[in-house]
Amino acid sequence: MATLVLGGAGYIGSHTVDRLIEKGEKTIVVDSLVTGHRQAVNKDAKFYQGDIADKDFMRQVFKENSDIDAVIHFAAYSLVAESMKKPLKYFDNNTAGMVKLLEVMNEFSIDKIVFSSTAATYGIPEEVPIKETTPQNPINPYGESKLMMEKIMRWADEAYGIKFVPLRYFNVAGAKPDGSIGEDHMPETHLLPIVLQVAMGKRDKLQIFGDDYNTPDGTNIRDYVHPLDLADAHILAVDYLKAGNPSTAFNLGSSTGFSNREILEAARKVTNKEIPAEIAPRRGGDPDVLVASSTKAREVLGWKPQFDDISKIIETAWKWHTLHPEGYQDK
Ligand code: UDP
Repeated sequence: MATLVLGGAGYIGSHTVDRLIEKGEKTIVVDSLVTGHRQAVNKDAKFYQGDIADKDFMRQVFKENSDIDAVIHFAAYSLVAESMKKPLKYFDNNTAGMVKLLEVMNEFSIDKIVFSSTAATYGIPEEVPIKETTPQNPINPYGESKLMMEKIMRWADEAYGIKFVPLRYFNVAGAKPDGSIGEDHMPETHLLPIVLQVAMGKRDKLQIFGDDYNTPDGTNIRDYVHPLDLADAHILAVDYLKAGNPSTAFNLGSSTGFSNREILEAARKVTNKEIPAEIAPRRGGDPDVLVASSTKAREVLGWKPQFDDISKIIETAWKWHTLHPEGYQDK
């Protein structure tokens, strides 16, 4: 049997493909390469370049690979700020793309999908740590597009029996420890890669967006998870569905939060660089604290994150950045 990974050339997708291959699983990758990188895809995976919303293309993929029995879906746009300016781009690519995908999956009787959702579906959370039952009220089109995708899957399950697991996670950081694959976004907006770009002298300084939040040091607190731990959770979720279990969502986090200042300090220690930083105005839409409870994933899926120490996570990211100062250099 084979697993189809959509968006397998992206940051988390490429780590998941790598893990699947390492486990000896037959793996097929579809990626449009709009934001993904061909070099990030493990060479033992079969690769197709194309858009998941192109139904004829997807039919061809399923026809040529009749052993596909599960889909892991990472193929979506994910920039919050861009989604505020271009909401329809997100509803078209992410949400409408999901409708087309489910139509073709249903035609080919593929009835299992694990889906990369986000804690952005919770908006300003009503409780912290965030549980799967915490109300979902997204505050940006990106989070809304993913919540709509979750809802669409629920009705597709009801009508066609396509079982689904949304995995909701927030701050992903780190790289494969050998430094061969890692994070390369264009433009880069995330905290840790920006901190490390300053450490490498590629940027002058870090701007910390706000120090008057309701947290002990005034800067936002976030929950950081390593992409290989996320990869394991996706694979466990496929196994969970293959065992005949019902559709359900899981949060994935470390259950420990780090403030932006703490991330900066930890990065200074790991890199042994000064990393100049200044306080800048708040960025819109940043909740004070976002920490996920992942008790359910640990108990039900048996998920055991290996990268439970923020310095270890930063070390892996630093190795990737020092080995690939210009990223994959393919854009
Ligand atoms: N952040 C920052 N400076 C930057 C980029 C991010 O202070 O150059 C802060 C951001 O305001 C938030 C945290 O770092 O408090 C994490 O932001 P990121 O964009 O990495 O992830 P998000 O939490 O938005 O998913």
